[in-house]
Amino acid sequence: MTQRPPDADARRAASPVLVYPDGSLSPPPMHLYARAAATARPVSEVIVPPRDAAAIEVPAGSILRLGCPEGPQVGDLNLFARGGLCERFFSGKTRALHGTHVSTGDRLWSCFPYLRPMATIIADSLDWYGIDADGASVHDVIGTRCDPYTQHLLSGEDYDRCCHSNLTRALATHAGLSLAEAERHVHDVLNVFMCTGFTRNTGRYFMKASPVRAGDHLDLFAEIDLLAVMSACPGGDCGAGHSSDRAACYPLSMTVLQPEPGVLSGWESPPRNGYAGGHGA
Ligand SMILES: [Zn+2]
Repeated sequence: MTQRPPDADARRAASPVLVYPDGSLSPPPMHLYARAAATARPVSEVIVPPRDAAAIEVPAGSILRLGCPEGPQVGDLNLFARGGLCERFFSGKTRALHGTHVSTGDRLWSCFPYLRPMATIIADSLDWYGIDADGASVHDVIGTRCDPYTQHLLSGEDYDRCCHSNLTRALATHAGLSLAEAERHVHDVLNVFMCTGFTRNTGRYFMKASPVRAGDHLDLFAEIDLLAVMSACPGGDCGAGHSSDRAACYPLSMTVLQPEPGVLSGWESPPRNGYAGGHGA
C-alpha cells in the first residue's frame, strides 16, 4: 500500500459538496398530481408472474401503480418512451440527482440526449422505512439487475430466470423483437421494493430482506407516454440469494390509473432536453 502523505488528514478533512444541491431542479407539481390521483380509476392491469416479467403501456398523464398483491417480492423495472426504445430510464443520472434510493417527489430520468423526467413518484407506502441502522433503504438505483452472465461467471452454470432475461423475454414479446434485439434495450433498473445499501467499512453493495408486504405499492405519474416492463426477481424478498429457484417468490402487479378529464388542465408533458447538441465541434 502507498505510504500516507504527511498532509493526509488535511486532505481528508475537505468538506463534502453536494453535486446537485437541493433546489437545483424545478420542484414537481405535487399538489396537481395529488388532485389527479384522487380522481384516478384503474383502466388496465397486468400481473407479473413469479420469476417472470410483463409489460404494460402507460399514457402520459396517467398513474402506474406497482403493487405487491400477495407476499414479499422485489421487482426490477425498465422504462421506455413508448415512441421509441432508444429513450430509456437512466439509473445513474437519477442516482446522481436524487440519491441512492428514491421515494415520493423524486423523478425517474431518461438517458441522453433526452434527459427529461419520464415519471414522478407520487406515493410510496414504504416511505416510513427511511434509512435503517445498516444504512439500507428501499427502491434503489444502485443495483443493475440480476443477470445470467454474472451468474455464469461466478458459478459456471446457466440460469435463465434472472431479471435480465425476464425483461428481455417480456420486451421481445411486447415489441415483436427477437431476443437478441430486445436484449440490447434492457438497461439498469429501478429496484422496486428492494432493500439495499453499501457496507460502511468496505463500501460493498448489500441487500437484506425487503420490508414490503402484501398491499404495498409505489405510484408513478407518467410524464410521457411509457412502456413499463417489470420482472419479479427470482430472489423473492432478496433476504438470502438470487439467480436461483431457491427463494419463495410471489407475483407483482402493474396497474394503470386514469385521472378524470380536466383535472390535469395546464399540465404538459416535458419536452426532450434543450441542449443544442454542438459538443464543441
Ligand atoms: Zn433479479
